[in-house]
Amino acid sequence: MKRIFFAALASLLFVVGCQRVPLTGRNQLMLVGSKELLPMSFQSYRQLLDTSQVVGTGPNVESVRRVGQKIQRAVEDYLRDNNQLSLVEGFQWEYNVINSPQINAFCMPGGKVAFYTGILPICQNDEGIAVVMGHEIAHAIANHGAERMSQGLLSQGVLTAGQIGLGVAMSNKPQQTQQIYNNLFGLAAPAAATIGYILPNSRNQESEADHLGLIFMAKAGYDPRESVAFWQRMAQASSGQRPPEFLSTHPAETTRIRNLNRLIPKAMEYYPGQGGRR
Ligand SMILES: [Zn+2]
Repeated sequence: MKRIFFAALASLLFVVGCQRVPLTGRNQLMLVGSKELLPMSFQSYRQLLDTSQVVGTGPNVESVRRVGQKIQRAVEDYLRDNNQLSLVEGFQWEYNVINSPQINAFCMPGGKVAFYTGILPICQNDEGIAVVMGHEIAHAIANHGAERMSQGLLSQGVLTAGQIGLGVAMSNKPQQTQQIYNNLFGLAAPAAATIGYILPNSRNQESEADHLGLIFMAKAGYDPRESVAFWQRMAQASSGQRPPEFLSTHPAETTRIRNLNRLIPKAMEYYPGQGGRR
């Protein structure tokens, strides 16, 4: 009886209330279990691939997969060493390149990564790809999607005080729940090719993704100092035109570069050959 009680309590605590982000230790609101989102995320990703021009082979695909898998291994090593491997439970890592001029890339909940060919000339090389990859994977590791879903459900009254879980939200207000999900991860007007994270991440989540991303790339063997040059190229590529979706959701370049310079010394501790803690 007691065991059942504790099991129930543990699963409740997993879903409810607060969770801590690895490395930054920030407390985040979690009213839906991040794992509850995975089936929906996988379905959206599949739909995206089905309606896009996926690049099958070639050097770009090889680079994106090579960098992705190295960062994935670094992340898993870090989480294993820190007893946080449960954060990637149920992940089905996948890396694809989509033929599109959009300057964009993302990692959906559960490790589903897509790079648009439009961002690759700005990345230039594996180091540049690692900057983007580290940042996007960090969003998934820090469960930013589930956090924003939780905020949406609460602010729109789909979940009221004391209620938790995607299942409860679905039975309360199925249409609104689906709408909130679609706004965050859904496919919007495939013809206009605006796909992926539609609502901007919060400023908090962005700097957190930079913070984690630098450490992940460093741990995977990519020089985190390269991030500054990458974001300068990104700013240049987007000047004079409507900012690409990837950039429009991100902090102003000067603020970002100032933050990166503050974070780089910490990330260097994880970079092999720097007397780090690898
Ligand atoms: Zn971001």
